[in-house]
Amino acid sequence: MRIAFVGLGAMGRPMAANLAGRFDIQVWNRTGTVATEHAAAHGSTAVDALDDLDDVEVVCSCLPTTVEVAAVARQLVPRLDAGTVWLDHTSGDPQQARDLAAELAGQGIDYLDAPVSGGTAGAAAGSLTVMVGGDAEALEQVTDVLDAVADRVVHVGPSGAGMAVKAVNNALLAAALWASAEGFAALEQAGVPTSVALEVVNASSGRSNATEQLFPERVVTREFPNTFALGLLAKDVGLARATLDGAGVEGPVLHLVDRLTTDAADALGSDVDHTELVRMVERATGVELR
Ligand code: NDP
Repeated sequence: MRIAFVGLGAMGRPMAANLAGRFDIQVWNRTGTVATEHAAAHGSTAVDALDDLDDVEVVCSCLPTTVEVAAVARQLVPRLDAGTVWLDHTSGDPQQARDLAAELAGQGIDYLDAPVSGGTAGAAAGSLTVMVGGDAEALEQVTDVLDAVADRVVHVGPSGAGMAVKAVNNALLAAALWASAEGFAALEQAGVPTSVALEVVNASSGRSNATEQLFPERVVTREFPNTFALGLLAKDVGLARATLDGAGVEGPVLHLVDRLTTDAADALGSDVDHTELVRMVERATGVELR
């Protein structure tokens, strides 16, 4: 199967590397040197321009938002044959994804929203979870492609549903980060180090991915390795808020999480790791979580 992969960022690079082990894959990246390095390291074929992508059966994209995906699609679609499947791994906007799916369907291209979870470690290990919105028959055609990058593929519903699930998932991640940081700051003030509090919480009902992975590995160590940008998390929480609004769900908690996360990205910079949002709580309380 001939694949094109568009967008070799923190997620796209390792995903495309796993595909290169199994398929004939052409890679394109806005900054072209990244694609050239990918080809040298993983045996993919780098193309300089989108127009150079040739004879493709499946397109995979992993870009910041649906806006960039739609721009790339408009450039690329004239080169694609009817029957091509577009797997969009971007954490995108559900409504914009539905609109793009309808536009591409007019050209005979099956667009599936297929955002992923599992982070850069899951991408490197080929053990992502993929949540897919769109046509079941089109999904059937790309089972082998998804098997190369994921341990779990869930067809969650019609077009846009994958994006909606991803947005809500990441809003839950942000909520857990904020709530945990607040709780641990109070416990530090009461004389309980965060590392000790984590021993209890992670054996108890308050645990989450934030407390099991992110606080021990990134916050308490003070390393904050930059694998998932705070600006991208703020984008996801905004999409979750819009999803709630669109469904008529009032959602005061996630509205607040949206505002806090957007403010944190403004204050700390959108390029820092998402876990650095805990610094906002640390600044407000004068406590360091260790
Ligand atoms: P990065 O910022 O690391 O990479 C972004 C990629 O998009 C780069 O290849 C960049 O190219 C390209 N790009 C940016 N703007 C444009 C543009 N205008 N036109 C064409 N290409 C562009 O992001 P991630 O890989 O971290 O994230 C990608 C998507 O995956 C996002 O939607 C994110 O929310 C989601 N995601 C991220 C996870 C993570 O842990 N990082 C986990 C799960 C989902 P260039 O090299 O030129 O800058």
